[in-house]
Amino acid sequence: MTAKSNFEIDILNVPTSKINTVDFDHLSFGNVFTDHMFYCDCIDGVWNQPLIRPYAPFLLDPSAKVFHYGQAIFEGMKAYKDSNDDVWLFRPDQNFERFNNSAKRMAMPEVPEDIFMNGLKTLVDMERNWSKKGIGNSLYIRPFMIATGTGVVAAPSNQYRFMIILSPAKSYYSGEVKVIIAEHYSRAANGGIGAAKAAGNYSAQFYPTKLANENGFQQIIWTDDATHTKLEEAGTMNVFFRINDTLYTAPTSERILDGVTRKSLLAIAEKENIAVDVRSVLVSELVEAAKNGSLKEVFGAGTAAVVNPIVGFSYQDVYYELPKIDNSMAMLLKDKLTNIQYKIDEDSFGWTVKV
Ligand SMILES: *Cc1c(COP(=O)(O)O)cnc(C)c1O
Repeated sequence: MTAKSNFEIDILNVPTSKINTVDFDHLSFGNVFTDHMFYCDCIDGVWNQPLIRPYAPFLLDPSAKVFHYGQAIFEGMKAYKDSNDDVWLFRPDQNFERFNNSAKRMAMPEVPEDIFMNGLKTLVDMERNWSKKGIGNSLYIRPFMIATGTGVVAAPSNQYRFMIILSPAKSYYSGEVKVIIAEHYSRAANGGIGAAKAAGNYSAQFYPTKLANENGFQQIIWTDDATHTKLEEAGTMNVFFRINDTLYTAPTSERILDGVTRKSLLAIAEKENIAVDVRSVLVSELVEAAKNGSLKEVFGAGTAAVVNPIVGFSYQDVYYELPKIDNSMAMLLKDKLTNIQYKIDEDSFGWTVKV
């Protein structure tokens, strides 16, 4: 159940834009933000006036619950500019729905649809000059919500702030990605919060990922927490495996996040008559396929990089290198998806929403 809001957004513009100070050719991901931010507070279950204000730090009480109990969730999405200077969102309904599922799991209030969608569209529209044409360029959108209520009592907050900030982005290239298959640490557990985009899920990955980095691996392929035999996600992305000409990815679950990129790639693969099998892949199957040469590709899928090809993996201290192939499914699917997002190909799925 969500509260109803009929509030118009109260907008205060910056006196002068800082856009001319930004070097759009050398953006590092997620470090530059646009001129304005959107926010709306929820106090005792009542959503207040939504605001757009110049992007700036803000004050919180030291006892705010977000600092102590990590009651915080986020989303990640992008806006794309086409060759006619129109700006498009990609399946924003999916992010909205997932955001409120995350909110529910973290005992936070659900954000009313008009606040989320009007906030999103108004802010992206105001900042449309920050959206640049050309494949790879995008405006990364970060909606998030934090518990702002005070008191070091381990109980849900009575106050929350929902915010949206925007960051111009270039195409994301992480270099060659080698991964290590998790044998001890876990990203998520049954009954836990792995299916939510909850802040703590990400900080919990930092330490094991740091250990992997120290050993020369960029990412971890997470396995199921109970047995470490099933392949689940790659870092903060869903993961796909191509064995011979079939594409495999695990079904979403309490431990596997329902990625918008994942489900979009699955739909495109189906349309392209690529054989797809949505089921858990075992670590033993992956090792076997790598040994007998039937393992062709492994790639992560998520909004930031779209697809992130993996060049090899390590398991039980043995490194398996993937073959270098010409007709990569990862690249085919990435191109098809990007062409829809940038309005180069017709969007037969009805995924794109004009701002
Ligand atoms: C956000 C996220 C993904 C990817 O989701 P998209 O909607 O495709 O960006 C996958 N796994 C995890 C753990 C995530 O947090």
